[in-house]
Amino acid sequence: MSDSGKRVAVVTGASRGIGRAIAIRLAKDGRHVVLIARSEGPLNDLKATIEMSGGSASVKAADISDAVAFGKVIDAVAEEHKRLDILVNNAGITKDGLILRMSDEDWTSVIQTNLSSAFVAIRSAARSMMRGKFGRIVNIASTSGVVGNAGQANYAAAKAGLIGLTKTVAKELGGKGITANVIAPGFIETDMTANLPTEIKEGITKLMAIKRLGQVDDIAAAVAYVSSDEAGFLTGQTICVDGGLTMC
Ligand code: NAP
Repeated sequence: MSDSGKRVAVVTGASRGIGRAIAIRLAKDGRHVVLIARSEGPLNDLKATIEMSGGSASVKAADISDAVAFGKVIDAVAEEHKRLDILVNNAGITKDGLILRMSDEDWTSVIQTNLSSAFVAIRSAARSMMRGKFGRIVNIASTSGVVGNAGQANYAAAKAGLIGLTKTVAKELGGKGITANVIAPGFIETDMTANLPTEIKEGITKLMAIKRLGQVDDIAAAVAYVSSDEAGFLTGQTICVDGGLTMC
């Protein structure tokens, strides 16, 4: 259970990478963080890490690509804590390939995991946020969804879809004290980007205004702000945290 009075934040994809950093940061900022991903072991380790630093967290292992089951998980979180204040839809996958060779399966699975899951989670969370007259929805997209990226038709479409979804949610729920924003990372050093050849990483860095690759804490800091109480007048925005790569 959350400590009484703490805002409750759900973070998907919290087992590693950007989601893990977001969870640690939100816990440090005094949120009770509900950690979601498929692998329970890393989530339990993270819960212990957060609690050792004086924070508060709980674990819900779930596959977000199963829309019906995932919606029930979000409903259960809201019911258990009697509130749900912050929803960070961060979990995502890539299945890259040029469009002529992209299979229906690779298209569908990326859309389901990266876009449909966010729709389901928002629909469930919004009911609780409306009751509490407060909500912060943060969708983690990508600069690929803003400017496109060869070899990522499925991923870019899902991330662009998140931007449209976010703007619509912002308009529908703004009058209820609920904001919705997108954080669009550029190139961040995580497992997702670990296998890219060094020359590609160096080439991307040269195109950036800030001449270094992004770190997970760069994204966590942006999420911390847009999900804070003081960010109540910021909604429907896409904030590209990309070292000036796109300046979108
Ligand atoms: P990552 O290191 O590959 O981590 C992905 C996270 O998502 C893991 O916690 C994974 O946990 C979870 N996940 C994947 N599929 C899931 C499913 N079906 N159900 C539940 N959880 C699932 O990725 P990352 O680099 O941190 O990226 C996080 C987000 O930022 C993604 O949305 C990504 O598209 C976006 N992004 C990243 C970059 C970058 O450069 N890294 C750039 C732009 C945008 P389990 O495997 O345990 O389920």
